[in-house]
Amino acid sequence: MINCRHLRRIPLLCVAAFFAILCGCSAFSGAGSASGSQKQTAELFAMDTVMELTVYGDPAVLKSAEDIITGLEHKLSVTDENSEIYRLNRDKQADVSEDTLELIGFAKDICERTDGALDITVYPIVKAWGFTTGEYRIPSADELQKLLETADYKKLQINSSTVAIPDDSMVDLGSVAKGYTGDRLIGHFRANGITSAIVSLGGNVQTLGSKPDGSPWRVGIADPFGGEYAGALSVRDKCVITSGSYQRFFEENGVRYHHIIDPSTGSPAAGGFVSVTVVGDKGVLCDALSTALFVMGKDRAFDFCASAGDFDALFIDEDGRIYITAGIADDFTPSGNYKDAGNTVIGH
Ligand code: AMP
Ligand code: MG
Repeated sequence: MINCRHLRRIPLLCVAAFFAILCGCSAFSGAGSASGSQKQTAELFAMDTVMELTVYGDPAVLKSAEDIITGLEHKLSVTDENSEIYRLNRDKQADVSEDTLELIGFAKDICERTDGALDITVYPIVKAWGFTTGEYRIPSADELQKLLETADYKKLQINSSTVAIPDDSMVDLGSVAKGYTGDRLIGHFRANGITSAIVSLGGNVQTLGSKPDGSPWRVGIADPFGGEYAGALSVRDKCVITSGSYQRFFEENGVRYHHIIDPSTGSPAAGGFVSVTVVGDKGVLCDALSTALFVMGKDRAFDFCASAGDFDALFIDEDGRIYITAGIADDFTPSGNYKDAGNTVIGH
């Protein structure tokens, strides 16, 4: 597995983000597949994160995969002045591409399904805390109160290929863009005859098939408290996507303020988790839900898991306890301090 360093007391966004990203990565082994396909790897920095791509097959497939990533980044970025999302936030109405339309539509559905725990119009609040600029500050209660009035995904309108938002609203697809991108990459690999691939887009790992020798991929779950890993999950053809308060944060007077905002308070979500990993077939769903479950906090998130059938999840709480859904409990091997932490299986 790729090494990860102790993060807990390093209050620098970029350092934290960088190492957290690598913690999501998987271990690989074997240089060639059973069919003789060679291992091809690429690493790039995009969407504000380090991305690692590995396929067993034609190197040209990797080159076009990089083009897919940069193409999507140019559409979805909230800071790139030429992106479709930037135009939407500036003009409050924009004609957008099929990708952007599909992603906004899907994200809005998850905003509804999670009763606003995910809210892609939370951007004015994210910005006020400085999470996109790195100019961190703690907004006053008054300021947050005003900004809370701007966040409401229900006011986002989609008409044919046009998206419209109210004058004071802004959209941020940061909670779903990497999962969507991962899905596009896996689809691209599959369409090009690849049967074995793994991508790590920040904390998001998405796999195609198994390792070339037929064994499952082993995906490391980062230890939010700075150890190397909390454990490893064995998966085939699955996405393993983590949202964590350790991934992006700043500290002031000994208090940590992280980047996952509770849209009901305007402040960093404080539902008892430090890390939420969602495992499923579709990256964009896992990405949306890892953010939403983190916001929901323990009681609501566990109830949500119990009534849903389209994903599994692994939670790490502030006391370092692991809660895992029954569907993946046998596939998870805890490591380090987590071996004897008394992990709890929660049911569907
Ligand atoms: P993730 O790392 O996928 O959990 O996404 C976190 C990012 O999504 C943050 O950096 C913000 O840009 C944005 N975000 C924060 N809170 C929310 C929320 N409650 N709903 C939607 N997006 C959010
Ligand atoms: Mg997410």
